[in-house]
Amino acid sequence: MDKKDLANLLYPNITKTIEDLEKMYPERKLNDKAMVCRFAPSPTGRMHMGNLYASFIPEVIAKQTNGVFILRIEDTDNKRAIENGIELILNDLEHYNYIINEDPIKGGAYGPYIQTERKEIYHTVAKYLVSIDRAYPCFCSEDDLNNMREEQEKRKDRIGYYGHYAKCRNLSYDEVKKHLENGDKWVLRLKSNGDFNKKIIFKDLVKGTIELPSNDIDQVLIKSDGIPPYAFAHVCDDHFMRVTIVTRDDSYISSVPYHLEIWNACGFKPPKYAHLLPLNIKDNNTIRKISKRKDPTAAVAFYHERGIPVEAIKLYFATIMNSNFEGWYLQNQDKSYRDFEFSFSKMSKSGPLFDLEKVINISKNYLSKLKAEEVYDNALTWSLEYDKEFAKILQKYKDYTIDVLNIERNVKKPRKDFSCYSEIKSCIWYMYDELFDQQLQYNFDNIKYKKEIATILKEYLENYYNENDDKDTWFNKMKQLADKLGYASDIREYKENPTLYKGNISDVANVIRVAVTTSNKSPDLYMILKLLGRDRIEKRFSIFY
Ligand code: GLU
Ligand code: ZN
Repeated sequence: MDKKDLANLLYPNITKTIEDLEKMYPERKLNDKAMVCRFAPSPTGRMHMGNLYASFIPEVIAKQTNGVFILRIEDTDNKRAIENGIELILNDLEHYNYIINEDPIKGGAYGPYIQTERKEIYHTVAKYLVSIDRAYPCFCSEDDLNNMREEQEKRKDRIGYYGHYAKCRNLSYDEVKKHLENGDKWVLRLKSNGDFNKKIIFKDLVKGTIELPSNDIDQVLIKSDGIPPYAFAHVCDDHFMRVTIVTRDDSYISSVPYHLEIWNACGFKPPKYAHLLPLNIKDNNTIRKISKRKDPTAAVAFYHERGIPVEAIKLYFATIMNSNFEGWYLQNQDKSYRDFEFSFSKMSKSGPLFDLEKVINISKNYLSKLKAEEVYDNALTWSLEYDKEFAKILQKYKDYTIDVLNIERNVKKPRKDFSCYSEIKSCIWYMYDELFDQQLQYNFDNIKYKKEIATILKEYLENYYNENDDKDTWFNKMKQLADKLGYASDIREYKENPTLYKGNISDVANVIRVAVTTSNKSPDLYMILKLLGRDRIEKRFSIFY
């Protein structure tokens, strides 16, 4: 029988040929090093840190090689798909500033980028496989397949549609025709020519050389509803999108022999595979894959709400992606992770453990090095969404806030008091009268006598404070103030003769600090006093007189 007739019988409406597709989606004109990578999620809801990390890797590699990064939506399993699934994924990827070259909204020359819109492509390849006798229709019913499985169990045979169990392999043209005329349901199966007893060896970019038994199962390429399962769809898509590296979950590794058989049957050159170990999380005493359902701290929303900078999360991903990144970054703190050369071979062979504390640390560090203007802009963006009251204040006092954020920034050891945008308010609130006036609790540690507090404050403001003093002058005046009121201006001297003094200079400074900030801990008091200015200091002092 000429299989071309069978192909026409099965796919009468498919007029394109595989050559047509090759012309429609030609090899990309990129240089040798350029990699074409993709992220291919199912539209099942918002991203979590696991997906975000899985998409970070192909994006980084594509960008670093001046290649292409594609977002392809794998929606062939429509039971799991949700209505605005694509939008949610795109929003999250865009929020993280991923550079996507081709996606369902933007389009591109290799689209459509949604699998359910690519049916014609799948059927064209399917038709081709029938015509070369590498695929055939199977009309077995559920019952037939169940009976087959029972028989295999009884005989202790491997389960599956293969060898002599593959009943529909040799149906004649007329038999097929009759089934079709009867309206019998059918699936298209691969006609495998693999030998289970032979091994297949392939190279995985992360795991190295892998040996697995060859596939000999006639698996389903197209289901009875005309939609292909993942395996066949990804081969058609990755070939005609000219993908060069397939990054995907580690759980697909055992299917590689089957996938390679499809690639070969189609006559396509397989891409390189990089199977990624999932991001794990510690759950009591067990370590398991991150789950959207069980791990609220893995949800992307968790990071939005806290205002953890996107860049910090990406630095964290870079840290877990390549073991040599952290050391490099320590030496190159002013650079972006994009300047680092990532490689698959430096990826850990055991699943990275998601570590929130580490994310927070990286974030703290990152924020401490950012320009105050940038901190301001990002804090405002965050506040506009999550803290309207603070946003108003930030908008009202832009330059002043930048000055405040500049306290102990741009120095060798910058301050690291906040780890995310939501923590900024609690670190600088006292610099704003609107917030300060709501606060009545003061923390005077060493000096509890009200009268003494009043004396220190009055004396300071009347005889020592000057907004225009430089830091040395300010400090000398603090010493003079201490001497005058009977506190040691030299701490060493105080330690030697504590009974001669009421206390020392830091007690005096602390009274001033608490009066203007309520707390006995603050960044550089000199700068705080300078930025507050005489009138506001006076107002804050006056309640103690
Ligand atoms: N749609 C598949 C998944 O979400 C993607 C597999 C792949 O990247 O090839 O697991
Ligand atoms: Zn069958």
